[in-house]
Amino acid sequence: MLTDVSAPVALFLFAHQDDEFGVFARIEKELRAGRRVRCAYITDGAVTADPDLRDAESRAVLQKLGVSTHDIFFMGRQLGIGDGHLHSSVDVLSGWLNAFLDMQPLIVACFVPAWEGGHPDHDLLHAVAVRLFAARGCLEIVRQYSLYHGLGCIGPLFHVLSPLPQNGPVELQAISWRDRLRYLRFCLSYPSQWRSWVGLFPFVLLRYLSAGFQQLQHVSIPRLGERPHEGPLYYESRGFADWSTLREVLNQTQHPETQSSESPLISSFKCNTEDGVRCCDGKEL
Ligand SMILES: [Zn+2]
Repeated sequence: MLTDVSAPVALFLFAHQDDEFGVFARIEKELRAGRRVRCAYITDGAVTADPDLRDAESRAVLQKLGVSTHDIFFMGRQLGIGDGHLHSSVDVLSGWLNAFLDMQPLIVACFVPAWEGGHPDHDLLHAVAVRLFAARGCLEIVRQYSLYHGLGCIGPLFHVLSPLPQNGPVELQAISWRDRLRYLRFCLSYPSQWRSWVGLFPFVLLRYLSAGFQQLQHVSIPRLGERPHEGPLYYESRGFADWSTLREVLNQTQHPETQSSESPLISSFKCNTEDGVRCCDGKEL
């Protein structure tokens, strides 16, 4: 597939290979709108399988959606960010993402995992991206997508693709039955992750049967100071991490939104408001 390097860019950020299941419909919508979809994975995903295998599975699904291989970036191994270990590499991610954004002058939209207490890597990626876009005055072009969380659930149970009310109003994009079936088939395209998908798939299926919508929400800096939701977070229930540790990690790392313009974490990049592209107008999303 030829890549239109002059097209506006929609950037999708993922913590792990297969997290793209949360935005299948949005990726296709961006492509239909003529945008260049670029996807970046920021951990190696090595906890549950060989990273090469996981990369290949996600690449194959993204290609079926229409994303060019040249626009898919598996950064985990390059950055030395292990699956489940983003808490020890937040500054590494922030530095890389800032430099990466500098190379995307045509960016008009960015999609990040939701602030929802599902997986610590998801929440930390969310926080890093939100801070960087806030520092650039571009928070309006960022949307969050839910993957899974444990609000109101007992023990290891969870909700999938269910935006938290605490994250604000939800923007809905209807998904046709034909596309819901396609997306469910894509969810079965991660054989290396069969253990995860045995648990996930029934809930994704139920979600698509009961509500066929891509659901997105705005993001905000004040939310980063709040626990994603009351009660045990999913990653606390599973013993992966706890909120106080995550908050400590985020407090100890640099806050680009409060740095001076001379800070190395702040670049000259600002919203692209020229050439008819109004990236800061939510309606354009
Ligand atoms: Zn994930």
